Amino acid sequence: MSLEAWLPQLLPGAVAWAETVAADAAATGRALSNSELSVASRVGIRFPEMIRLRILHQFPVPEDPRLEEAARQLGLLGPEMRGLTLGYSILVREGCLSTRLLSHECRHVYQYEQAGGIAGFLSEYLQSVARVGCDDLPFEEDARAHEVE
Ligand SMILES: [Zn+2]
Repeated sequence: MSLEAWLPQLLPGAVAWAETVAADAAATGRALSNSELSVASRVGIRFPEMIRLRILHQFPVPEDPRLEEAARQLGLLGPEMRGLTLGYSILVREGCLSTRLLSHECRHVYQYEQAGGIAGFLSEYLQSVARVGCDDLPFEEDARAHEVE
């Protein structure tokens, strides 16, 4: 079965996983500094003060083997990944935080705001990944276009 057809079954688990990881990062992460807040404002975020930044050594991986497999197939959560944004929670791999990465991830926060939250955004994002793959994703093109050096 194609990933696109399979997605409706995976989505609830993916959203639940994302909400759990986001809540954990919100509880353990830090607020943005003043200069980071100005980066967040520049990419259009409505509520930059709600962002929490969590630096970690390794990104969490879904326990559900079907979700993990889907993430791998989609090219998400790979070893080369440096940042992951889930709602207002931005997860960054240790040693990778830069203005450019922060501005990119902040633009994803903007996209979550536009989609009305984690469930709405992930539904659109994952359908788009299943259709066009990770590289040509409009969400990623938009985030790259808003990177600040
Ligand atoms: Zn991105």
